[in-house]
Amino acid sequence: MQDCIFCKIVARKIPAHVVYEDLSTLAFLDIAPASEGHCLVIPKKHYAKLHEMSSKDAASLGSSLAKVAAAISKLSPNYNLLQNNGEAAGQVVNHVHFHITPRSQQDGIFFKTSRKQLSEAEMQGLTKKIKTLLKH
Ligand code: 5GP
Ligand code: ZN
Repeated sequence: MQDCIFCKIVARKIPAHVVYEDLSTLAFLDIAPASEGHCLVIPKKHYAKLHEMSSKDAASLGSSLAKVAAAISKLSPNYNLLQNNGEAAGQVVNHVHFHITPRSQQDGIFFKTSRKQLSEAEMQGLTKKIKTLLKH
């Protein structure tokens, strides 16, 4: 995609600190890391959102994620994976990317939020709805 910063990194039109590459995926250091070793793992093909990906490309991405995570775990045994889809979810770059963020006890990174408590009827309703959506 012409104006996509991550497509430009894939095409080597702009530089990045690449840590891993294979036929369909690329991993590189985040330019503004939340912690040392913060990496982004992306498909080489442009997809804006995770649910738009072909299952083949999604499977390749999953495999690369596990590979890069294994290396990161040797830097830091504690780490998070984060993947944002859509503006309200915090997505800034519209090319699918997973963050792998090394963590330590006092790093001040805060992902946790308050949780809702749903009734049994609401839980059953949502289960039914999502199972139906999975069939279409
Ligand atoms: P998002 O909020 O979309 O999930 O995260 C986008 C991430 O991409 C941010 O963590 C940001 O620092 C990173 N980023 C944005 N532009 C560049 C760039 O040109 N190079 C690299 N390496 N990372 C970038
Ligand atoms: Zn792109």
